[in-house]
Amino acid sequence: MSTGNGRLAAAGAGIILRLLRESGAATIAELMDRSGLSRSAVSHRLEVLLERDLVTNGEGSSTGGRPPSLFEFNSKAGVVLVGGLGATHSRIAVMDLSGAVIVERAFDLDISDGPEAVLGWVEDQFGQLLRTAKSKSEDVRGIGIGIPAPVEAASGKPVSPPIMPGWDGYAIPERLGRKWAVPVLVDNDVNVMALGEQRAHYPDIADLLFVKVGTGIGCGIVAAGQVLRGADGSAGDIGHVPIAQAAGIPCSCGNAGCLEAVASGSAMAQRLRAEGLETQNARDVVRLVRAGDVRAIALVRESGRLIGEALASAVNLFNPRVIVVGGDIAQADQHLLPGIKEFIYQRSLALSTQHLRIVRSRLNDRAEIAGAATMVIDHILLPEVVDRVILA
Ligand SMILES: [Zn+2]
Repeated sequence: MSTGNGRLAAAGAGIILRLLRESGAATIAELMDRSGLSRSAVSHRLEVLLERDLVTNGEGSSTGGRPPSLFEFNSKAGVVLVGGLGATHSRIAVMDLSGAVIVERAFDLDISDGPEAVLGWVEDQFGQLLRTAKSKSEDVRGIGIGIPAPVEAASGKPVSPPIMPGWDGYAIPERLGRKWAVPVLVDNDVNVMALGEQRAHYPDIADLLFVKVGTGIGCGIVAAGQVLRGADGSAGDIGHVPIAQAAGIPCSCGNAGCLEAVASGSAMAQRLRAEGLETQNARDVVRLVRAGDVRAIALVRESGRLIGEALASAVNLFNPRVIVVGGDIAQADQHLLPGIKEFIYQRSLALSTQHLRIVRSRLNDRAEIAGAATMVIDHILLPEVVDRVILA
């Protein structure tokens, strides 16, 4: 094969890889059918993918005669490093190219220690996990990170993060890219959670909202199967929607009257503290609810109604099929979800609620790393990215 033909064959290899990822193992005839390419074009592209170990080749079943070759996406052709960084606790993992976890670790980490300290530590931890996974640095194909801040999508930089002092405009992709020269994708934690939950549990549902009720309140939007970030990356910032019951109450954003100022985990912890209870954060509120404390239960129920009030407008605007509720306070879901449902079904238009389901997150603490993996794997296996890497 001449070099010219080789480049031509490589240029469309990404499409063949996408077909194999979407529909599983396939024969050349099936790939010709799905791609509209000729037998020689499909064969050339498969050769390129086989050479790169991105595809494996086995035998299919036959109705007689020699069984046809069956080609399959090789999800073991590399690994991705993923992280879900939170205000005080984080989780990182090494996953294969199908998003299956090879090794995973959760730990306490104070994000306010600043980007150099936090990312230096994350880098060390990734190195340790890679050794545990028996993978090499050269196996790393991409890195996906979720952070508790608005993120400028194109650059992966945090934008005025209220709970991440020192991180404003910090180039996370460049920092992590120093050690691993691979694509590094960064997004807001709730966007990533929405993507993770949608792909893992609602793959046939294109329109979904993920509401995180923890220290703060945030909402990730999946619209037409894609994360909706908005013009500046702040779409879904429902925590700072004004609501009547919060009138005059100051919020962490500098405004007053926001949903978050009355219905978030930290607002509830503060209210309970004022009543003499020992509550520092959202987890303490959940602990009290589980212990049957009537004041904490009443507060979580009220919080659910207020969140429902704010979400009712989002339901009218976005017409989601599923609303997933996650975050620390969702662990008190039997008290949180009724309030949310009550308000939404009362106040949203009948047309937008007739098929709407409001459910608790099934991925829970793992929603963020699952979504971070989906984000980076989707990117590195985009046909044009695959072609570019192969031709490099
Ligand atoms: Zn606010």
